[in-house]
Amino acid sequence: MTDKVLVIEDEPALQETLAYNLTRQGYEVITVGDGKEGIAATRREQPDLLILDLMLPGVDGIEVCRVLRQEMNMPILMLTAKADEIDKIVGLEVGADDYMTKPFSMRELMARVKAMLRRERLIREELAALDVSPSRQQVAFGNLVIDEARHEVRRDNAPLAMKPKEYELLLFLARQRGIVVSRDLILERVWGWDFDGGSRTVDVHIRWLREKIEDDPGNPVRIVTVRGIGYRFEG
Ligand code: CA
Repeated sequence: MTDKVLVIEDEPALQETLAYNLTRQGYEVITVGDGKEGIAATRREQPDLLILDLMLPGVDGIEVCRVLRQEMNMPILMLTAKADEIDKIVGLEVGADDYMTKPFSMRELMARVKAMLRRERLIREELAALDVSPSRQQVAFGNLVIDEARHEVRRDNAPLAMKPKEYELLLFLARQRGIVVSRDLILERVWGWDFDGGSRTVDVHIRWLREKIEDDPGNPVRIVTVRGIGYRFEG
């Protein structure tokens, strides 16, 4: 199956170069020149990966990323000319999966895109494999139900849209309920040893999870922060 890549970039020359190179690698490519149309196109096209420029006319890349992160699962690679924005981009504020600073090597970008898509595919396969296990069941914590058989989380009976990693993280925490787990342990078990994104990735995903499962995300009662150590799931 051909992976679909959506490029949101307002510089015509760069947009064209990206489209040319991605197409040559065998991807289906869609290009868009501004943030507002970028959000609409992402919702409409459901791409497998998003390449998103930070400086865009109208709605900028940070805002686009923030909006889409709430509703979409695909990996986002951000392009930026501003080195000082990087912490924000991959951190709590925005939550892109990876970034490249301009000017970048097209070859390096193609390698990143390939790696990101491969990682996403592996996660999906692992989750699909979970579904066929006969021992899976459904567990309820108050108004929250983790249905492992259907690979679904419901809150007040309404299914929640979750990124694969959010689901894995929630499942891991719920299985250790009542026990404090460190960020390092979470990284190791949910992301794997070879992941080089750092423990802030855990905090970002915890924040997203809380927004979905907590009645008051600002005062969480399900996923509790244990200062200086990590997190504890309260069942
Ligand atoms: Ca730009």
